[in-house]
Amino acid sequence: MAHLLIVEDDELLRDGLCAQLVHAGHSVSSASDGAQAQSLLESTRFDGVVLDLGLPVVDGITVLIWIRQRLAALPVLILTARDGVEDRVQGLNAGADDYLTKPFEMAELLARLQAMLRRSRLPAFGGSLEVQSSTSKNLRLDPVLPLGWLGEEAMELTHREWSLLSLLVNNMGQVVGREDVLAVWQTAPQEGGAAGSNALEVYVHRLRRKLNDSGLSIRNVRGLGYMLESDTP
Ligand code: CA
Repeated sequence: MAHLLIVEDDELLRDGLCAQLVHAGHSVSSASDGAQAQSLLESTRFDGVVLDLGLPVVDGITVLIWIRQRLAALPVLILTARDGVEDRVQGLNAGADDYLTKPFEMAELLARLQAMLRRSRLPAFGGSLEVQSSTSKNLRLDPVLPLGWLGEEAMELTHREWSLLSLLVNNMGQVVGREDVLAVWQTAPQEGGAAGSNALEVYVHRLRRKLNDSGLSIRNVRGLGYMLESDTP
């Protein structure tokens, strides 16, 4: 689940988008012009934005540039007219993560949005790959390969273990939702077995063993997910 901002002046399309995204399990806020979008972005933390470029008051490109100056890592998907090639190029140059041309299929929007949110949660997109533990051993992860180090000691990890641990390291001290882990796993190479909630528990158990005596713990936050934290010395 993500908290999304939909910026679209066409009321019918805006309401349709909001309804679909809520149905897909997201929480959604909406704005009908660029100025309203800016004030919402100033007061609220969002996980992603769907931004129409043709907007009244403040246009979409101006909002996008404004977002990139303040919230560099916020994923933004732009909506452009079918013949708006220049808009599209301008939008991508201004830092949009993806675009869709109108009219579009709702299923495609959902799929692209999902992929965009997933990418933004990966450490390659600006997150940290190193955390300090209460012992002198820091936990470090390779940004590409399924490898980690506890202090000087190398840690062998499977792809799933590595992506789970990346998410936890990236969000140290915050809860990582089960559905976020499962979403990231969908993009990782298969390791056999369904990547369901039961599998998640198995992987958490394995990581706990590997982090034994490291000064770091994976806490189960009941009903929500998991959180990496430093033990109190
Ligand atoms: Ca419009």
